[in-house]
Amino acid sequence: MKPLGPIPPGFSAIDGELAIGGRKASELVAEAGSPLFVYDAALMTARVAALRAALPDRLGLHYAMKANPYGPVLRHMAGLVDGFDIASGGELLMAEAAGVPAERISFAGPGKRDADLAAAIAREVTLNLESAREAERALAIGERLGRAPRLAIRVNPDFDLKGSGMKMGGGAKPFGVDAAEVPALARRILFSGAEWRGLHIYAGSQTLDAAAIAEMQAATLALAARLAEESGAVLPACNLGGGFGIPYFPGDAPLDLAAVGAALGAQFEDLPEVLADTAFSIELGRYLVGEAGVYLTRIIDRKESHGEVFLVTDGGLHHQLAASGNFGTVVRRNYPSAIATRFGAPVEEEASIVGCLCTPLDRLADKGGFPRAEEGDLVAVFCAGAYGASASPMHFLGHGPAAELLVNARP
Ligand SMILES: *Cc1c(COP(=O)(O)O)cnc(C)c1O
Repeated sequence: MKPLGPIPPGFSAIDGELAIGGRKASELVAEAGSPLFVYDAALMTARVAALRAALPDRLGLHYAMKANPYGPVLRHMAGLVDGFDIASGGELLMAEAAGVPAERISFAGPGKRDADLAAAIAREVTLNLESAREAERALAIGERLGRAPRLAIRVNPDFDLKGSGMKMGGGAKPFGVDAAEVPALARRILFSGAEWRGLHIYAGSQTLDAAAIAEMQAATLALAARLAEESGAVLPACNLGGGFGIPYFPGDAPLDLAAVGAALGAQFEDLPEVLADTAFSIELGRYLVGEAGVYLTRIIDRKESHGEVFLVTDGGLHHQLAASGNFGTVVRRNYPSAIATRFGAPVEEEASIVGCLCTPLDRLADKGGFPRAEEGDLVAVFCAGAYGASASPMHFLGHGPAAELLVNARP
């Protein structure tokens, strides 16, 4: 038997069934269909509250909406966080439709087209510039529109986040402006008449190691101070990146938030003059929403092959690619999963939970220990609130998208 990842806190059993936001899995599927992503708004609210309690008051909290762009989730998050970080013109329209005020949006991401830049500048969204060429295009478009664009520089730092799942800084990268070239570009922006919005420094994603985050934040603050000095201007704002991870796999332990907060608090006590009035923020995606989501899928077929049990579901990697191990992981390990309609029942057999796609990649749980499940039972795959529905190849094999549902939303 292979171990399963740890089931996140916040889920209970009602009548022997998994309950999400106090509602039984079978009830939710009866209402919205299968396969189904269910997101519990109350868990997102609690997560933001825990962050606010642990982190310095001075630190703004942004939501990186690529983690989960489902409209009701965006509307819920808009009432909780200080800013939204977007990475495409499409996300700009989705954030706008969800009622996020444009002045709270910042727009990073390589390959912004002129139309994306124009839409952002017309709305007074802050652009996190990814290159000197992009800066020139933004300035020209601002001139044409008669608007002073709000410009920040995304820095490609000289370091990366240790133990990070996806490295996004250090060395040659498509993201950000190399640190050595930032002061000259900052001066160019300062003298252009654009509104200078400071720096965005993002060094990596998905770490559970508080010391690695503290070290990265200290390095980020030192780099921001040095670049501000060399640019000859104070920093109005500085986005310190994110990187807060969630436990997905066997043996993973949650991030020690108190330790991260204490370390950053100490850093803030000791800031150089050039950062004294800077508005700091962090941007988090999966940490805010990942554990609040569950993917539910129904068992269509129970079969045995060469003595192994396969539970074949109506879902699969076309909805929840990450659980299949094909989204940025090197070694396939099991996500947390369970038989939702027999939640908490003792383990009776070893079974693999597979999807309905005709490819051997489509495996949601490999040789896990489960209570005996039959056709009609529901499977739950946890940690499905981030990089699930919107980060999976939903058109592959033509089964169509999963339904989505936000429970416990404010009325
Ligand atoms: C994807 C991304 C995030 C969010 O990453 P998580 O690991 O989900 O927190 C934040 N900032 C930038 C620039 C990103 O590209």
